[in-house]
Formats: sequence, structure tokens, C-alpha cells
Amino acid sequence: MRQIETLEAAFARHPSLPREAAIKADLLRLGMRFAPGALVRPVSAAGEPGREHQPKSYFIFSFNMAPMAQLDEEQKWRAPEEIALTGGPYDLRRTIVSVRLNPRSPYLVAPRDGALWLHAGDEPIAQVGLHDLPPYYTEQLPDGRSVAEIAPTIEWGYLLYLTVFRVCQYFGAKEECQFCDINNNYRQQIQEGRPYTGVKSPHDILLALERVDASGGESRAYTLTGGSVTSTLQGKDEVEFYAQYVEAIETRFPGRWISKVVTQAWPVASVKRLKAAGAQIYHPNYEVWDPQLFPKICPGKARYVGRDEWIRRIVDAAEVFGPANVIPNFVAGVEMAQPWGYTEVEQAIRSTAEGLDFFMAQGITPRFTTWCPEAMTPLGDANPEGAPLEYHLRLLETYRDTLRAHRLAPPPGYGVPGPGNAVFSVSPFMDVLEPEQVTSEA
Ligand code: SF4
Repeated sequence: MRQIETLEAAFARHPSLPREAAIKADLLRLGMRFAPGALVRPVSAAGEPGREHQPKSYFIFSFNMAPMAQLDEEQKWRAPEEIALTGGPYDLRRTIVSVRLNPRSPYLVAPRDGALWLHAGDEPIAQVGLHDLPPYYTEQLPDGRSVAEIAPTIEWGYLLYLTVFRVCQYFGAKEECQFCDINNNYRQQIQEGRPYTGVKSPHDILLALERVDASGGESRAYTLTGGSVTSTLQGKDEVEFYAQYVEAIETRFPGRWISKVVTQAWPVASVKRLKAAGAQIYHPNYEVWDPQLFPKICPGKARYVGRDEWIRRIVDAAEVFGPANVIPNFVAGVEMAQPWGYTEVEQAIRSTAEGLDFFMAQGITPRFTTWCPEAMTPLGDANPEGAPLEYHLRLLETYRDTLRAHRLAPPPGYGVPGPGNAVFSVSPFMDVLEPEQVTSEA
């Protein structure tokens, strides 16, 4: 079946989902590629260079389906962080999609009549816009490092992504989460010669944020994160290591951004320490709900913390942050990854829905990223096409309906929901929620 027929059959099977969300889910699942020359900076007839776009920063993982070494130079260095889809035969409202490079993808971005278009196979399905290079991206810290490398922006300018520790102390096949390429990505970027700081200091972060702030940028929130620390890092345990950054930022820029922290699920005393440091939103990601799959997919987390304890800690954290501000992520689709996962979409959805219902009944709203079957990860290599599109569409319906059934608002810190508004680029979950449900904290 041609890709466009697959899409149109999906639209017909899921009439309650915005078409924007269905296309975005398929793009995140299968990635995209760029035609040669598509990313070359335009030059006017008078020889003036056109606007520069914001390139992919590799803000934490590769989020690519091919190793860097297999990408051509243009895609390796000039692929955009995100694309905005509009118009086309489906008259799409603006839809922001994170760029996941895949030389085998059926989706191609190529010039057409003087503009960039997304093609499904040979058919143009949406016009493509690129985000302008933020003004601070060209600035440097006093030691010559780029401000953009220390504090890149994603979500069409909404979110600063501060990965302060670019590797994870869960190391090797027996400990790393089986979908995650944080360590491999770090090795690849260093090999390619990309400036890529392994541990950013609080001083680095403050210097970079000063430039961001002075540039008058549009960012509304930051995410502070990095790999897990199972022993110590620079003499600090995991809690002290991450809390010091939040404390430094909130002391220097009190309340300037919504502060979000992604770490492991910590005991309640540590969660209180994080809150006292100034964090507003806590993301203790549980990755996959199924109790049999959790230890297989997250062997390090299972060994050091354990699945039941992990879940208990998420629930306990709600007492510290308030349930709406505890937003655990799961990786949508890994529960269908072979060799261990479900083989039937409805079974996978039933399991994941059980987790959503468990948390939402307590006022905790999980969110999800669409699984990117990254090259050189055990699950990515074994499942290069990720989970089926049907799974992703059923999940969007299930997530939306469970949120409604529990009368919960969309999670805070993600901007305005709804098709045409949503900026969260690594999952379409915000694209299917209703704008009227938005809270003042968005
Ligand atoms: S804990 Fe797992 S998902 Fe998180 S960085 Fe480490 S390996 Fe990756």
C-alpha cells in the first residue's frame, strides 16, 4: 500500500483524531529524510543570504533511526530541530514535528515550486516551515563554547533543554534502558567532532541563560535533566547533583521560566529537596507500565530501584509537588517491541491504559514520547519500524478519553494544547487535547 493510502485508511478508521496528529505520529514513528539541497541556505536574486534555520541540537538522544556515520553531510549538520507542517491537500493546521532522520523513511522533505514540502512517497501532503535560528544561537561563552550547545531550545522556542550530564551511569546492555541511546549518542557526536559538553557546570548554565534572557527569546520553560547517577558525580549524589542546578537557576532568575526536572523516581526526602531547590514540575519517568516488561526494558532501573518501588515513589511525589505537577513519561510503543513485547495492538493498549488509569485516578497525568527506534539500541535494531501506526492512534484516543474520564486538565508546562496550537514535538499527545482545557500555568 502506498504511504498516502495507509494514511487515508488511518484517517477513516479514526475520525475523532485530528489528521495532524495522525500524520505526526507516523512521522515520529518512521522518521523523515531530506532531498539533496533542501537544506541549503537560500540566496536571493541579489546574492543576499536568506534566513538561517535552527539546526538539530542533539539535545539528549540522537532521535535518529540511522547512525550519524550513515547520514550525508547536509543532513548531519543542517537537519532542522523541528519542522512545521501547514496546508496541503488536508489543509493542515500548524503542526510541529521533531526531526528524526531516517534514510529509509517513506517521508521526504523536498523543494517544490519554491517552497519545502513534505511528501508521502511521491505525493506532497503539507508545506514545511523551519524555525528561524534563535538570536542567541550564534553567541559564545567566554571560553568559546556555543551558547546553543549549553542551552538549546526545542518545541518551536517554548522549551530550553538543559541536559547537564550527557551520559548515563546505567552502562552497557545489562543496565541501559533498551530503547535509549544516550551513551551511544554521546560517543557518536564526539566521533563526528560536534562540540558536546559531557558535564555542564552550573556556571556554564547560568552564563548561557544570561545570553538567552538578554536575547529576549520566547522560551517559557526549561527542562533540567541528564543520565542517571547511580554512584556519585563530581563528589555529589544524584539528588545533590541535579538540585544544585535548579537552585542556581532559581536564585539567579527566580520564576523566569517554568522549571521542570526529569530524573529517576526518588524517595520522598529527595523529592522534597528538589522542590525546595525551586523545581515546579517533576518527571520521574516510568517508561513502560507492564510489570513483566519493565525489568526487561529497563534493567538498570529494575535492579537499583525496582518497578513497584518506582511506582510508589511517583505516587509519593504527588504529596510533595501536588499531583498535577508530577508528570511521569512513558515511551509509547516500546511495549510492542520484540522480542518481549505484545504482538497485538489491543493488548498493548489495554496494558498502557491500565497505567494511565492508575495514575490519573490519583490526579497524576502521565505524558508520553513516541518511541523512536534509534539505531544501535537493542530495541531499535530489532524493531526498525517501531510500533504500528494503529497502536499510536489507539493510544491517542485512549489517552484523550482517560484524561476526560478523570476530568483532568492537560499537563502544565507544555504550552497551549490542540491542533494548530501544540508545540510538544516528540509526541502528538498535546495535538489531540482541547484548547478549552488549558490551565493558567500552561
Ligand atoms: S535511565 Fe535509561 S532512559 Fe534514562 S538516560 Fe539512563 S539509560 Fe537512558
